[in-house]
Amino acid sequence: LAAASESSGVASYHQVLDQQSLRRLQLGTELEQAMADGHISVVFQPIIDARTSDIVSVETLVRWAHPRFGAIPPDDFIHLAEQIGRIGPLTDHVLDLALARCRRWLDQDIALSVAVNLSARCLAEPDLVERVQRALRRHGVPGELLILELTEGSVVDDSVRSSNVLTDLHALGLRLSMDDFGTGYSSLSQLRQLPIDEVKIDKSFVLGMSTSQGESFIARSIIELAHNLGLRVVAEGVEDELTRKLLTEMGCDKLQGFLVSRPLADDVLEKWLLARTGVRSAAPGAQHRRL
Ligand code: C2E
Ligand code: MG
Ligand code: MG
Ligand code: MG
Repeated sequence: LAAASESSGVASYHQVLDQQSLRRLQLGTELEQAMADGHISVVFQPIIDARTSDIVSVETLVRWAHPRFGAIPPDDFIHLAEQIGRIGPLTDHVLDLALARCRRWLDQDIALSVAVNLSARCLAEPDLVERVQRALRRHGVPGELLILELTEGSVVDDSVRSSNVLTDLHALGLRLSMDDFGTGYSSLSQLRQLPIDEVKIDKSFVLGMSTSQGESFIARSIIELAHNLGLRVVAEGVEDELTRKLLTEMGCDKLQGFLVSRPLADDVLEKWLLARTGVRSAAPGAQHRRL
């Protein structure tokens, strides 16, 4: 009897596995078409100056609205896109949407920086720098308004090659941000050798700050060390007022999280900006507003 129930347990386990790998396989084959059909879109999450609360940039976050599976979060398909060699086209698609939006803001005399996430695999693509440069040109967006968010693993794995790529990207005028900082293996001193402009404290530390002194200590240490190396610091995952207060007292430069705003669809962000800054389209030819 024990053997029977055990074997049926195994059977159902295999069934679950099969369903999962089937779904993955299906998603893999559908990715390209989903981009063409407009099912892969982006939302924008505001990032504010910790002292003034002015909006300083928005982070572009990819979304897949699947006709049958519903909303698929990026954590479920970024890795898949990497595995099937489709992260390049996906990144280009997101970059395109982000820069198109940035261009429309510029046309309204609003100079708002956009951040785009780069998967580790992207740094290994030999034509990455060229593609980013072409995208900036195509949309007529100055490099200064683009921020690329990298993960620690991507720059530490093959540090010589990636440091060349980062130097070339930096030469386009854009800023480089180290995402999810504190979760990987890189040290701040390793970052010093790379043309990185800012670090983002991973939300796993920030989320615990209001209840745990240990997390607060980690955040404080990252902020102090980063500042000593001349880097700006962004905290992601700021959900409550106490955390915001603590981070601001620690000298954290920028804040991002549900307390400030959830990631917003294009048109909702427009309303959010208007309500918050009172900014309206200025007369053509007016000085660009740096938000
Ligand atoms: P990330 O780059 O670290 O982005 C921050 C994630 O934290 C986002 O999740 C965001 O919605 C979430 N978040 C923001 N504020 C809060 C908060 O206050 N509390 C909590 N609990 N969460 C918050 P999302 O959109 O699901 O993205 C997950 C990850 O997927 C991103 O983490 C990023 O690594 C990756 N990703 C998203 N878009 C892209 C993309 O276009 N390309 C690549 N390569 N990766 C992407
Ligand atoms: Mg990010
Ligand atoms: Mg992050
Ligand atoms: Mg993160």
